[in-house]
Amino acid sequence: MDTDLARAWVQAIAVAVGRHRDHLTQLDSAIGDADHGTNLDRGFTAAATGVADLSADTVGAVLTTTGTILVSTIGGASGPLYGGAFRALGKVLDTPVAEPLAFAEALAAGLADIQKLGTAVPGDKTMIDAYAPAVAAFEERARQGADFATAATAAADAAEEGMRSTTPLQARKGRASYLGARSVGHQDPGATSTALIFRSLADTAASA
Ligand code: ADP
Ligand code: MG
Repeated sequence: MDTDLARAWVQAIAVAVGRHRDHLTQLDSAIGDADHGTNLDRGFTAAATGVADLSADTVGAVLTTTGTILVSTIGGASGPLYGGAFRALGKVLDTPVAEPLAFAEALAAGLADIQKLGTAVPGDKTMIDAYAPAVAAFEERARQGADFATAATAAADAAEEGMRSTTPLQARKGRASYLGARSVGHQDPGATSTALIFRSLADTAASA
């Protein structure tokens, strides 16, 4: 990943989130407060604008700026979680070009940041259920020597599988956990947006 790909990724997320805004909000209306789509649309639209004319020498500069904008614009539980994750990625990627293994390390730092702040573990029916398998898949492919787009596609596939795996789970973190057993049978909104974030990465890398 170079700075152009980092910028294109953020812009692709903004497009994907905009396109899926109503779906994300619908999912959040079933087990939350119906703001996930609008929250993320606001945040990633602001981030896409913010990085568009940012003069950045490193991938980290693009992703750190993205994280800072997300923290200040998304709100809710997901704002600090996604914002912190992008900032954690940015901190690791203090380089003009990140090879797949370095990017895998950054994704792992993002995961650690989400878990430190939100204390969720896999199976709690959160964004972690999509994010954690995506990180593992990206890292596995990177270790095998795969190129960036191949690793990102494996990560997106794993994120989508993780997203679908949240439906039968009972939420143990966040607003959905207040519903107890009534949260079962609904796909988690945050896991769904995480899958969009990884699919955007795969699509952007494949067309770079
Ligand atoms: P809010 O719940 O404050 O309205 P959003 O609707 O924007 O925030 O985001 C909800 C999503 O945030 C959930 O679907 C879940 O994936 C994620 N989430 C909530 N709490 C946590 C947590 N403690 N750790 C990880 N993810 C969480
Ligand atoms: Mg919500």
